[in-house]
Amino acid sequence: MREFRYERPADVSSAVTALAGSPNGRFLAAGTNLVDHMRLGIATPDLLVDVRQLTSDQITELSDGSIRIGAAVRNSELAADRRIRRRYPMLSEALLSGASGQLRNVATTGGNLLQRTRCVYFQDLTTACNKRQPGTGCSAIDGYNRDHSIFGASEHCVATHPSDMAVAMVALDAKLRTQGPDGERSLPLIELHRLPGDQPDRDNMLNHGELITAIDIPPLGFVTNSRYRKVRDRASYAFALVSLAAALDVADGVVRDVRLALGGVAHKPWRATKAEEALRGVPANEDNFRAAAQAELADAQPLSGNAFKVPLARNVITRMLLDLAEEAR
Ligand SMILES: Cc1cc2nc3c(=O)[nH]c(=O)nc-3n(C[C@H](O)[C@H](O)[C@H](O)COP(=O)(O)OP(=O)(O)OC[C@H]3O[C@@H](n4cnc5c(N)ncnc54)[C@H](O)[C@@H]3O)c2cc1C
Repeated sequence: MREFRYERPADVSSAVTALAGSPNGRFLAAGTNLVDHMRLGIATPDLLVDVRQLTSDQITELSDGSIRIGAAVRNSELAADRRIRRRYPMLSEALLSGASGQLRNVATTGGNLLQRTRCVYFQDLTTACNKRQPGTGCSAIDGYNRDHSIFGASEHCVATHPSDMAVAMVALDAKLRTQGPDGERSLPLIELHRLPGDQPDRDNMLNHGELITAIDIPPLGFVTNSRYRKVRDRASYAFALVSLAAALDVADGVVRDVRLALGGVAHKPWRATKAEEALRGVPANEDNFRAAAQAELADAQPLSGNAFKVPLARNVITRMLLDLAEEAR
């Protein structure tokens, strides 16, 4: 590991100023992703600005019924929160499907959103990877790509985004609150992560020195009928091949509203808007569920090793909607 400076500023503004003045510096939360990358030599920051004590570790209810989650809230605390479990079960289930109990006890909400891909080539300094070292090429396109994207990839990168929590938050229309060198801003979480295009080394739309302070989840009544399902190679301690966060509102046998987001299929959490559009206003039955899933998957562009993700995602969406329709009765 290379030498680095470590600072623990007294407040958010000082943390933002410290990082803005250090182009190669990084914020440090629990370090479960960043420190691993420093050990592997993937990340070589010359300054770590510790933000664990600076952002809120509280989950609070706002006057409009939204829930505000401080960036320092631990993954296990968020999953266990009574309001989250009752109002947004898909979020609690997504968190509990990730990592291990020990990791969830320290990993933070902000850090979880900004964890980097688990592509094997990204983590292996001996191989070409445009995300790790722009211009070197993508080893996964013609290599091992079983875990990789079926949507929105580019000729430069086919990696997937790994966070389970982010998939549920995108389905829930969460909003991010940040403070950066240019002040505070709020942006829809769906705009945080980006597709790789010709700049795959850039995972997200944050500016250097911009700190996530909180995430707001709006009140969506029907989301009490929601689930997160994660298909992976092992029952625990593994990243998603395909995952789905889904909520369904059915009235008189007809779909009134729906939220669907897929994980493990793209460089960002993939909101399944085509399937959602196909579902609103149609009878809640298997044929319509499968047709909606098919409408989404029609755009998939699988690689040599992951064509199985297309029928897998179709079946996960269909089965999940059947289960949610049953529970809505
Ligand atoms: C073995 C293993 C298995 C795992 N399995 C899963 C899994 O199945 N599903 C899953 O979703 N995750 C999984 N994870 C990932 C784990 O959830 C993340 O490592 C963790 O959530 C990162 O949180 P952290 O607080 O440790 O972030 P850190 O490692 O401290 O930071 C991660 C990144 O976020 C930045 N950052 C942190 N906080 C902020 C902030 N407030 N504002 C701006 N930037 C910030 C840091 O600069 C860094 O770039 C696994 C991890 C391990 C080690």
